Amino acid sequence: MENASYIGRFAPSPTGPLHFGSLVAALASYLDARNHDGTWLVRIEDLDPPRESPHAPGEILSQLHACGLDWDQEVMYQSTRIDAYKAHLNKMADQNVLYPCICPRKKISGTYPGTCRGRTFSTTDKPYAIRLKLRHRSVTLDDLFVGKISYDTETDVGDFIVRRKDELFAYQLAVIVDDCEQEVSHVIRGADLLSSTPRQILIAEQLSLPVPRYGHLPLVVDRNGIKLSKQTHALPIDTSSPLRTLRFALQVLGQDTQDRATNTKQLLSNASRQWNRSLVPKENQVHDK
Ligand SMILES: [Zn+2]
Repeated sequence: MENASYIGRFAPSPTGPLHFGSLVAALASYLDARNHDGTWLVRIEDLDPPRESPHAPGEILSQLHACGLDWDQEVMYQSTRIDAYKAHLNKMADQNVLYPCICPRKKISGTYPGTCRGRTFSTTDKPYAIRLKLRHRSVTLDDLFVGKISYDTETDVGDFIVRRKDELFAYQLAVIVDDCEQEVSHVIRGADLLSSTPRQILIAEQLSLPVPRYGHLPLVVDRNGIKLSKQTHALPIDTSSPLRTLRFALQVLGQDTQDRATNTKQLLSNASRQWNRSLVPKENQVHDK
């Protein structure tokens, strides 16, 4: 056992049912937790109602359950955590590291250059987004799969939004506040979230929250090299044959496909025992066919 207090989590946004790419992330985070005798949690990141489907949380949970990916403890819903996000935002406001930004979103391409840094809350009319002012430094991520990556706050990250113009809390803030609340020690997720990670580390450091270990998995892309997502019309996973789906996911993760297992429980228990991080492919893309 590497870590007696291992807590992992799978945290989907309920924009629709799980597609294969998100199942791969769920399975990897499950296996990594179980292999370390850890706890595995599920958190529904329902912070962005305009993008969400009201049926998605139930669909996602029943898909996980059908695949035998049973979680520990009660599912956390971010929509119930607004007070906590407010409290952490206020703490950063007290530290004088926030400023209002009125830039139209469409006008910003690439790293935000800090256009509104000189603005103050008392003299800026609403609506405004709220950005975190970064000091120029480098942030290093030691990723379990990708290795060490360094980011320059000025050129790679830029002052980023912690509360949106529509007054919804930004994903970056909610995620790190919840990882801290749930005492998450290991975040295993898709490489599509890699560029978010320095932002989450910077908020954690600003708020003196613990920073989890991160592991970003290669993305699953379709035959045309496009990431599987609802937008690219990837099909929801087939829960009528969970063994087949899980074997396919194990294959993508470079693990033994447990061909002898006759049920999901057996497959998952063997796969958990044999889980080997170093077999996960290093390339950013694995094909689904
Ligand atoms: Zn601005």
